[in-house]
Parts: sequence; structure tokens; C-alpha cells
Amino acid sequence: MLSASRISLHYGKHLALDGVSIDVGESETVVVLGANGAGKSSLLKAIAGLLRPAPGARVNLAGTELVGLPAHRYVELGVALVPEGRGIFGDLTVAENLQLGAYAKPARPHEARQRALVLELFPRLGERQKQIARTMSGGEQQMLAIGRALMSCPRLLMLDEPSLGLAPIVTSELFTALGRIRETGIALLVVEQNVMASLAIAHRGYLMEAGRITGSGTADALRDDPAVQQAFLGAVTPAPFTNGVTP
Ligand code: ATP
Repeated sequence: MLSASRISLHYGKHLALDGVSIDVGESETVVVLGANGAGKSSLLKAIAGLLRPAPGARVNLAGTELVGLPAHRYVELGVALVPEGRGIFGDLTVAENLQLGAYAKPARPHEARQRALVLELFPRLGERQKQIARTMSGGEQQMLAIGRALMSCPRLLMLDEPSLGLAPIVTSELFTALGRIRETGIALLVVEQNVMASLAIAHRGYLMEAGRITGSGTADALRDDPAVQQAFLGAVTPAPFTNGVTP
């Protein structure tokens, strides 16, 4: 489905991505794990065509080369990004936000079908169709952002920190919905700080550090990897027993 390779990206002199290559298979859910500043958001933006990578990069979606195309063509060809901070239109209603999500030409004929899918996944959006988006709770706004992205009929849906700032119960609802989106066959590429929840819905994952991919594996293998546990799950090696005596 997605084959992104040799993606390098500079912000001025700072090299934020250094030859990153990742793949997402058809109907596959892939998570990218990394510390703050590792380059995860930059990677998603480069794959979405919002940032232009250095020459030599390739972003191939189901056989079509995307690098060099304008960003709206990425959307038309099936790439959707739910950015960190959601990117919904705060002054518009829920219904208007969803309608705008289907703005891309290939998505327009499927607007009714996609809306039905979105409202089935997120029934609360159905009850709140006339509500102004910025008056919704953080969790509801995140659901709307994902719903809006789904309206564009994506083949690849990318989510940047979808659970950021959400209460645990809302996060759990969100991951249940992501699991259901996964079952619809849409390929998902997710950046998340919530490592356990994201690995629970992922097939595979990549580890990112300082703009490079430093590891990859199945979700099960990553979850069991002591290095991953130490880096992301706060696992600590017990201190040696000192019998109360500080050396
Ligand atoms: P976080 O988890 O904190 O969102 P991240 O892994 O998504 O981090 P990026 O946001 O991609 O990381 O940032 C990668 C590096 O590029 C960081 O060092 C960041 O400071 C830098 N960077 C990101 N955006 C810009 C920008 N617009 N101008 C300059 N530097 C930037």
C-alpha cells in the first residue's frame, strides 16, 4: 500500500529526518514509536505531502509515485492525515466539518456512504451534527477529526498522537474505534505516546530516534522487547538491595 523510502528533511540546518524508509501493507496497522523530537510528526507530514522531503525521497501509494504532486492530489489519491492538534474547523458545525472532509473530487460520490460509516463508528457525532466544533470536548473533537479524514475515502489514514490530552476512558473509546477502522481494511499509520494501547491495535511498528529508524518488528515482538519497555514504558531495573546502607 505505502512504500516511503529515503525520506530526508531539513528545517534550515537541522536534519529532522535522515533517510527514513517505512512500509505499510494493505489493511495493515503500523505504529511509529519515538521520543519527543524524534521526527515522527515530520515523517507523517512528509508522507502526506505537507512538507517537501530532500531530493531522492519516494512516497509510493499502491503503485503511484506521490513526491512532487501538490498536497491535494495526495488526498485525492487516498492519503489522509489527522494532525496533532486535530485541524478541524472550529467555527463550523460537525455536519459541515464532515461535508468538507468529502471535498476531494473522488470522495464526493461516496459522501453518504462514508458519513454512515463515520456515524456508525462515532454515534456521538450523529447526535451533535449541529454543534459548533470548538464547543465539543477534546475527545469529541478528536473523533470529529478522524471522521472528517474518513470522509475523504482514504486508503491510508495517518494519525498523529490521537490520544494526546485525552482522559483514560476517552482514550480507551478512541482505541476501540481505531480497532474498528482497522477492521474496515483501511491501512493505518499511527504515531502515539500511548505505547501499549497503540501496540495493542497494531500489526507492526517502527522505532525512531533522532530522525532515523532504529528498529522495527511485529507489535508482539516490540511489546516484549526489554529495550522498548525501558525506553517507552518506564520499566526500571530494580536497584540492588543495600540493606539500608547507602554506598
Ligand atoms: P513530538 O513527539 O514532540 O511531537 P516528533 O517526534 O513528532 O516530536 P517532530 O515534531 O517531527 O518530532 O520534530 C523533529 C525535529 O524537528 C525536532 O527537533 C523539532 O524541534 C524540529 N522541528 C519540527 N518542526 C520544525 C519547524 N517548523 N522548524 C524548525 N524545526 C522544527
